[in-house]
Amino acid sequence: MHSFHYTNGSLHCENVSLAQLAKEHGTPLYVYSAETFRDRFTRLDSAFSGIDHEVAYAVKANSNLSVLRLLAELGSGFDIVSGGELYRVIKAGGDPSKCTFAGVGKTRAEIEYALQQGIYSINVESEEEAAFISQVAVEMDVIAPIAFRVNPNVDAKTHKYISTGKSENKFGIDFEFILEAYERASKLPNLNLKGLQMHIGSQLTSVDPFVEAVEKVGPLAARLKADYGIEFFSIGGGIGIIYEEALASGKESWWTEQPEDSRPITPGKYAAAILPGLEKLGLKILLEPGRFIAGNAGVLVTRCLYEKKGTTKTFKIVDSGMHHLIRPALYEGFHEIVPINEPSGAIESVDVVGPICESGDFFCQNREVSSFLPGDLIALMSAGAYGMVMATTYNSHPLPAEILVDGDDSKVVRKRQTLEDLIAPEEL
Ligand SMILES: *Cc1c(COP(=O)(O)O)cnc(C)c1O
Repeated sequence: MHSFHYTNGSLHCENVSLAQLAKEHGTPLYVYSAETFRDRFTRLDSAFSGIDHEVAYAVKANSNLSVLRLLAELGSGFDIVSGGELYRVIKAGGDPSKCTFAGVGKTRAEIEYALQQGIYSINVESEEEAAFISQVAVEMDVIAPIAFRVNPNVDAKTHKYISTGKSENKFGIDFEFILEAYERASKLPNLNLKGLQMHIGSQLTSVDPFVEAVEKVGPLAARLKADYGIEFFSIGGGIGIIYEEALASGKESWWTEQPEDSRPITPGKYAAAILPGLEKLGLKILLEPGRFIAGNAGVLVTRCLYEKKGTTKTFKIVDSGMHHLIRPALYEGFHEIVPINEPSGAIESVDVVGPICESGDFFCQNREVSSFLPGDLIALMSAGAYGMVMATTYNSHPLPAEILVDGDDSKVVRKRQTLEDLIAPEEL
């Protein structure tokens, strides 16, 4: 199943034509498939059905309220990294008692808010933070549930900007220091040592680093259960998705369980690889997928404005860019680019670039893509995660609208920003 497909010569999201949506709502436009969100959540959840577990969607991947509501309705927990994300989850109808709160720089206001709302666990990234949370909890006269985030020093073999589990990364407490951290925290007032957490990186395309991390950290979790009675072990997120050529090649979507060896990570493969190390712990296992759930669920639809032929290159200039989808500029992220009108077979080598006054403002460089012309609509595939959430108004371009498609229905889940919205918070 791929929720984005050509029907009658035109790209559709489920049963809705993207050309029609662009006509009604303009471009640039993010379009999401509810079916894909549900499919990814359910597949991962079922792969772990044999053990006590919870899928806590990493809100930062795509935090639109309607996306959060859809996942809350499936029973998802949420992994948040700010007070703002907790606010969104609550507004969307999510359950704070299923929220874990990560991040290296939590403020007093955020900690107080999380404790007031009764979240499941604050995932603590330094001993200083644990001492501070203890102090805040004493002042509020509550018990703060915490877990330390361990940095296992495992190479996730992903882009250096999205690797988080090596000792040179700012995240978590070094494996060597973690037992002392629990020992000292156990003597602090108003803390409940509830779990252990790790997250080694994002867009992992092999299960091996996950296995290595579970093998290294599993025994530590067992020890902490024995010593402090912790109840959960969160193994983080990071499951990679297929960005390349999923649509043009006509291949089935990435999660297809067969043939196994041509698919980097599927829920089945992931679970099979790590369950042996997890089952024996007798702990509740938390999963924190972000990209895995949201990545393939969205596309960015943009219109080609101009074509410019230089001496060495052909530039296709479109009405969206790094201000709406920064992954190519930020970490060399790849997005398949396809015309909304089913391609005839003609291919050309192009740079697809946006209007922003930065040379880093490109979606691809020297890439062979199906030909398209000024006036044509194209889609940046697999833009559902780390897309709109990182959009800015740099160069004073209003933010795009977002549409959620569900079967035959489509709904505006975020209005396009207007010029008035753009300057509304400012004063003269
Ligand atoms: C970002 C993040 C995730 C989600 O990562 P994905 O690669 O999107 O799955 C999970 N846990 C924590 C602590 C994170 O910071």
